[in-house]
Amino acid sequence: MTDIRLYMFQTGHLNLKVHNIKMNEGNGADYRIPVPFFLLTHPKGHTLIDGGIAVEAARDPAKYWGPVSEVFKIEMDESEGCIEQIEKLGIKPEDIRFALFSHLHLDHTGSVGRIPTATHIVQRSEFEYAKNPDWYAAGAYIRDDIDRSDINWHFLEGVEDDFYDVYGDGTLTTVFTPGHAPGHMSVMLNLPNTGPLLLTIDAAYTTDHWEERSLPGFVSSAVDAVRSVQKLRALADKTEAMVVTGHDPDEWSKLKKAPDFYS
Ligand SMILES: [Zn+2]
Repeated sequence: MTDIRLYMFQTGHLNLKVHNIKMNEGNGADYRIPVPFFLLTHPKGHTLIDGGIAVEAARDPAKYWGPVSEVFKIEMDESEGCIEQIEKLGIKPEDIRFALFSHLHLDHTGSVGRIPTATHIVQRSEFEYAKNPDWYAAGAYIRDDIDRSDINWHFLEGVEDDFYDVYGDGTLTTVFTPGHAPGHMSVMLNLPNTGPLLLTIDAAYTTDHWEERSLPGFVSSAVDAVRSVQKLRALADKTEAMVVTGHDPDEWSKLKKAPDFYS
């Protein structure tokens, strides 16, 4: 496969509370969110954008995630692992050239180390923070995901590397959007037929975040989180991009999923 396509997948769901996603909202009500990841096929080698939940966590949540598995309850079969799913499309892990990480929270790192040949792109600030998080954020980072050996990391340097063009042809550009996590990035795609498509990832979990009605349930900086949404909204206005939020159960259900794709 050498044409440019975007495939959307999910490694199952997380069952949690509304307030885990929308700060101070929900009065303790339950909420169920999809855990997306994405594959961009490209003639110069494919890119996996995030990797969902690790298969080890699906197998034994308490052992692999620890106490946080009681708050974020995993609903995932091992067959929903990121590599397991792309292999079903006939794509081999060695065909993946880049593994791009929006950030290193536990529901995005399922691909770390599973594609030994891939260059793993992440913000340096996120990588450093993941290894030494503040007490309240520690549960969101799984050291066993990040500490895998023999990984070829490519670190980006915040605003200096903002709008990093992965292939050099405008197909895949990172957008630095800290706030939910210190080194969070969103992703701007430019597809041949669909045109500009913005993956906000966790800079805007849901439409309520995108439309400035909710703050994220989990933040490293509320001020940065709010300004990152403003930055993305300005970008989406300018480019007339299709916008895909990070974990919105209603919006996600309306999107095309693999094996269907956006070209
Ligand atoms: Zn996150």
